[in-house]
Amino acid sequence: MTDGARAATTPGRTPHEAATHCPYCALQCGMLLSERDGRIEVLPRDFPTNRGGLCQKGWTAAELLDHPERLTTPLLRGPDGRLAPATWAEAYARIVTGIRDTQAAHGRDAVAIFGGGGLTNEKAYALGRFARVALRTRMIDYNGRFCMSSAAAAGMRAFGIDRGLPFPLSDLGRADTLLLVGANPAETMPPLARYLTEQRERGGRLIVVDPRVTATARLADLHLQPLPGTDLAVANALLHVALTEGWVDREYVTARTEGFDAVRRIAAGWWPARAERLSGVPVADLEEAARALGTARTAIILTARGAEQHAKGVDTVSAFVNLALALGLPGRPGSGYGCLTGQGNGQGGREHGQKADQLPGYRRIDDPAAREHVAAVWGVHPDDLPGPGVSAYELLDLLGTPSGPKTLLVFGSNPVVSAPRAARVERRLRDLDLLVVADFLLSETAAIADVVLPTAQWAEEDGTMTNLEGRVLRRRALREPPPGVRTDLRILADLTTALAAPATSPTPAASSAPAAPVAPAAEVVAGDPSYRFLPSRGPLQPPDAVVDDVAAPDAVVDDVAVDDADPRVVFAELRRASAGGAADYAGVTWERIDAADGVFWPCPDTDGPDTPRLFAERFATPSGRARFHPVEHRPAAEEVCAEYPLYLTTGRVLAQYQSGTQTRRVGALRRAAPEPFVELHPDLAARLGVEEGEEVRVTSRRGEMRAPARITATIRPDTLFAPFHWGGAGRVNSVTNDALDPVSRMPEFKVCAVRVEKVTP
Ligand code: SF4
Repeated sequence: MTDGARAATTPGRTPHEAATHCPYCALQCGMLLSERDGRIEVLPRDFPTNRGGLCQKGWTAAELLDHPERLTTPLLRGPDGRLAPATWAEAYARIVTGIRDTQAAHGRDAVAIFGGGGLTNEKAYALGRFARVALRTRMIDYNGRFCMSSAAAAGMRAFGIDRGLPFPLSDLGRADTLLLVGANPAETMPPLARYLTEQRERGGRLIVVDPRVTATARLADLHLQPLPGTDLAVANALLHVALTEGWVDREYVTARTEGFDAVRRIAAGWWPARAERLSGVPVADLEEAARALGTARTAIILTARGAEQHAKGVDTVSAFVNLALALGLPGRPGSGYGCLTGQGNGQGGREHGQKADQLPGYRRIDDPAAREHVAAVWGVHPDDLPGPGVSAYELLDLLGTPSGPKTLLVFGSNPVVSAPRAARVERRLRDLDLLVVADFLLSETAAIADVVLPTAQWAEEDGTMTNLEGRVLRRRALREPPPGVRTDLRILADLTTALAAPATSPTPAASSAPAAPVAPAAEVVAGDPSYRFLPSRGPLQPPDAVVDDVAAPDAVVDDVAVDDADPRVVFAELRRASAGGAADYAGVTWERIDAADGVFWPCPDTDGPDTPRLFAERFATPSGRARFHPVEHRPAAEEVCAEYPLYLTTGRVLAQYQSGTQTRRVGALRRAAPEPFVELHPDLAARLGVEEGEEVRVTSRRGEMRAPARITATIRPDTLFAPFHWGGAGRVNSVTNDALDPVSRMPEFKVCAVRVEKVTP
């Protein structure tokens, strides 16, 4: 343990208690689950990040465990077009036959996988392995592409590594100046706000950049309210002021970075008046913000989705990283740059192989050495691993097209609500030959699936999650899944076994249909000259034996079944696959996590330290220096015009989470945030003759949404805001732009051109 602030946790005091973490966002607040008389309660737990605090979502999380809408049996779509209960054997038979038929007719890449940033590390890892080894498809990506990918790409190109916060959260309270860009933690992660309070109580300055006067902006000493899509210009202007005022840390720039001159030349052209014309942020505010950062003893710059979900999201983050590097912040105590990860396992979920271009340990799938290492762990030949696939939106947009996948398996995601240009994505999903969704509630995506598999919830499974600090945590089961429900790992293991077996099952177009012969596995890709059978991975090793290969066996685990669906076994293999990679988990054991309230990666040795703080001496680039990246402002992919004269931006509300599949079904949360809405400035509402609560229609070039108007002066008069937690008529992603960042392939959720009108009853 290298951070003295961390103390041991009691992993549940009785068999009816489990010390675990909230199932929702990346803060992964510690909580205690307690079961008495069949009732499950959420209790506070003193964990270093949340210190007993939870938001309303966390307190109510257990309500879904026995929710009446919980799925407890597989569902199959029958000839009448309806979903009907089925057995697991029938469901598996339909899936396996569908996969075989699809790959036989269209090749391996015609079967695709779509994962999620809320899946445990073990599931994310197993999903990537299932795609590459069992299916041998390159078509896998996940919804984290819609969340974290721009900050991840910018971090990789600047620092050579992508860990959301390269320092513990507690550092936020120690920063003299804290700049939050497009982040609203007071509403999205309320327990984190205590660090903002702590920081201000110590006399620190909080600056928020956001087009809306959010709950976080109201806490700030200074709020910059730019036009959506102009954050990059604001960052370059702040750097311009730092340059002209002499606040650039020349010594640090010379000793620890490279490429500053090109950035300096661009920043020289961003005098504050130019940035004000573009962004609407007054010169005086830009100068004040630059002064607060440039003269602070310690300063931290954080970005979140507001800055990142743009077609220039990577460049926008790079502009703020450039500013942080010029001021000499990264790697200094109490200072630095970081991003606030969103989804529950947004960090770990992007490290272990469910991304199209990635193998476990944050390895690149096109790197021969990485392929060799991972192939050896998986017991296959490196040449048998597929190459890179396509990004999440590109994958969804290919579904059902002549050259695209015909079968899709979805785990932990609801793209019908969460994808940009969602009506088009929904059509693509409906065009598939076979759509399989694993979920514990009937999400909008599950509702249009051919096969729905009921899965376990967070309190019914063990595993690990990695929070926004890069701290690997233990998710601990309180109870077994209900009868009829299986874990995602069990489903993947079962399907792997079924796909490897000779095909003798009946074709289950209908569960009662007569048996029909299907192609044996060897014929799946008949005619493909590169095809050969995969060598078997052989029997899995117990965790301690697996660990032996990478580190001292300090974590010998007795009496653990060697089972590919056992998260402990999968984690042991993940450690071996990640060993030597950027996100190295080789030295992380469940016992070590239990003993120290989490382990920060990289952690290559079981008997060596973990890494709460990165970059103290060198960056993870070949030269050891951080890299500036010159970036210029460019307009949003879609600018306003006479037909679509307003900007639309999207985001979250306190009581809902992501696509709302879970939180919309929790009574207290539904009462707190019952329906979608559209925020309009009073001046705009008056011009349109719209009253509070009246239904408005928001239309873009891609589609429309309808929701009640919420009239508030906290939004700019030229901008609308709508939350993204609802489907149906109130689905804001029917309107959003699917323009992609050229590097991260992040869609431009945060700005598009729209018009708004009152809906006449
Ligand atoms: S939703 Fe996030 S902030 Fe709220 S309790 Fe859960 S982990 Fe904590």
